[in-house]
Amino acid sequence: MTIDNGFGLAWPNRSPVAVSLTFDVDGEAGFLGDSPTFARRLTSLSEGRFSVNRGVPRILELLARHQIKASFFVPGHTAEHNPWLVEQLLELGHEVGHHGHLHLRSDKVSAQEQIDEMERGLAALANAGAPKPAGYRSSSWELTPETFELIIRHGFKYDSSCMGDDRPYIETWNGQSIVELPVHWSLDDWPMFGWSIDNGGNYTHPRTLVDVWLAEYESARRDGRHTSFTMHPEVIGRAARFAQLERFVERLVSDGDVWFARLDEVAAHVTPYLEKTR
Ligand SMILES: [Zn+2]
Repeated sequence: MTIDNGFGLAWPNRSPVAVSLTFDVDGEAGFLGDSPTFARRLTSLSEGRFSVNRGVPRILELLARHQIKASFFVPGHTAEHNPWLVEQLLELGHEVGHHGHLHLRSDKVSAQEQIDEMERGLAALANAGAPKPAGYRSSSWELTPETFELIIRHGFKYDSSCMGDDRPYIETWNGQSIVELPVHWSLDDWPMFGWSIDNGGNYTHPRTLVDVWLAEYESARRDGRHTSFTMHPEVIGRAARFAQLERFVERLVSDGDVWFARLDEVAAHVTPYLEKTR
């Protein structure tokens, strides 16, 4: 096998591949952050609540069944409105990362609103009992220079919003840098299945998820890479899709040698090596 994981580094337990399952628990904030008009759109808000009430429990059961620890990015609003959520995630050994407060897109709001998103999100996670988050993931993966500055200033260990490589790398802006655990739309459930009454979207056959994501997994395995998959509990938590996620996870587990890791664990593992290239 040719190691092409960015730093020639073996994964723990000599695993040939590292996989992170990540979940953005946008909840009602996913709608409210898009437009204040959602405050009176009760149906949309109820779809947001499905995320926490139905999607998350299904996900937690699947992860527990396979003893996998995952990364959950929780907007402050979601944490405040579901006080049990952060507590339960932590109790089960999952990572809780920063995902804004009201899920406002950095590129659509002022510098001051970006500061508020950062600080209110941090306060809400702290109030919910979470330790200072190691990871930051911007809403809709849009980073601006102002938000980049904020994640440096607040001392995050890694960012997971950018797409400049398919291996962990150092993302830089204006002379500052941070460990990046990259994402991509093709490894996200939203472009596959997300749909809204306002903008339409896709109703991809659920089995597509296994086809596309297994292809990514197999390529990561060939490269000796880390790869991560991004999901939204209100999207992947629908039963027919969730059955495909179960198939996907069972397939990876059956290989017996995957390092399933939280993103903060991956960051801790790769940072000393990436630092040398910084
Ligand atoms: Zn989100």
